[in-house]
Amino acid sequence: KINEEHHFFNVISEEEALEQAKNVNKKGKLAGLPVSVKDCVCVKGVESRAGSKILSGYKPVFDATVIDKLKKEGAIVIGKTAQDAFGFGSFSLNVGKGMEVPLNPLDKKRSCGGSSGGSGGITKKLELPNISIAESTGGSIEAPASFCGVIGFCPTYGRVSRYGLIDYANSFDKIGPMAKSMHDIALILEVISGYDEKDSTSINKPVEKYTKYVGKGIKGMKIGLIKEYLGKGVDEAVKKAVSLAVERLKEKGALVDEVSLPITFKYGVSAYYLLAMCEASTNLAKLCGMRYGAYDKLEGGFNDYFSKVRSNNFNAESKRRIIIGTFARMAGYRDAYYIKSAKVRTKIIQEYKKLFKKYDCLISPVLPTVAPKIEEIKKMTPLQNYLADIMTVGPNLAGIPHASVPVGEDNDKMPIGLQIMADHLQEGKVIQLGSFFEKE
Ligand code: GLN
Repeated sequence: KINEEHHFFNVISEEEALEQAKNVNKKGKLAGLPVSVKDCVCVKGVESRAGSKILSGYKPVFDATVIDKLKKEGAIVIGKTAQDAFGFGSFSLNVGKGMEVPLNPLDKKRSCGGSSGGSGGITKKLELPNISIAESTGGSIEAPASFCGVIGFCPTYGRVSRYGLIDYANSFDKIGPMAKSMHDIALILEVISGYDEKDSTSINKPVEKYTKYVGKGIKGMKIGLIKEYLGKGVDEAVKKAVSLAVERLKEKGALVDEVSLPITFKYGVSAYYLLAMCEASTNLAKLCGMRYGAYDKLEGGFNDYFSKVRSNNFNAESKRRIIIGTFARMAGYRDAYYIKSAKVRTKIIQEYKKLFKKYDCLISPVLPTVAPKIEEIKKMTPLQNYLADIMTVGPNLAGIPHASVPVGEDNDKMPIGLQIMADHLQEGKVIQLGSFFEKE
């Protein structure tokens, strides 16, 4: 019923869910918990299209590592959630050809955020206990969490296995949970984190007991408020919610200083989009109507065949990114774009690392606005779309853990998220600080 109105799901896997429920591990940590899964994460036997028509009919013959771990603890997959095709977007409007745009759970005229829009929407709207498995490359967990009023958590790059994720940009992609409470987030992280020999970038370090950080208090915590992200172009309601959050932190004994990330602010969006599109354009090369998903009548040469399948099945934003990414990787342009962006990325990592010598956590808004109306988004240029990510690309370029936690709302009762970041593998601190706002 919810889906008829809001289009949060690309597929509802009712039969498989009932089957899983029959055989559920009753002793598992998540026995019987309904879990929705972003379309780009492979679920065995369930059509997994990463939100794109070009993967129509693709049913993985295996579970992604995260799904395997969740099922072993008794969780039940209920369906695949709507997203911007391959994660290419911030508002879930760039859905695949013939697919529906998910509508905000609090106001159907507005966006759910993207690219994990369906995950954010269903997590908020479904009143039963439930969580969602989402994915972020440059902000796709935080943006929908902020717009829908739930918690979205993006772990350190490599903390959660990417095996079975349909890649957007391999050096950025992270799988993470969305939930209504920090305790649920911590519990899910404990289940899905850990080394996986099937993912060569997975981190081989023990997994902490994240639940012990929930409600630990914040007395004495050192927090940096990033000043660049409170400047012009940021909604007054967003600024107000953040400054109230800062007041509460100070009242309860945290130390809050204004800090600066000048390189990240100035070059983050350009570096992110160049690198992400370069990686994306190579990843999408394998989708040519031969191995996975959509195909067509084989006629003419291979070039004609591939072009026909790709022209008919990729949406406009996917094509834009293939063209820009391929251009930037061309011989002669490589040094000017790709290599330069990679160097900027290193500078950005250093900028964060320097602040984490002094601060436990950094905070900023997640986005400059609350969820915009869908009609307004349709009028935006691609560049205006990309600029919406100005606050979330930084932690994603650096690969540090970060979360969006609801801290307020505007006059229309639309939620506002606070972004909390910590150093690599310090997800505990993000949970500790995030759970404080939940209590307050
Ligand atoms: N909005 C960003 C992009 O379009 C991030 C998307 C994501 O994290 N998958 O690339």
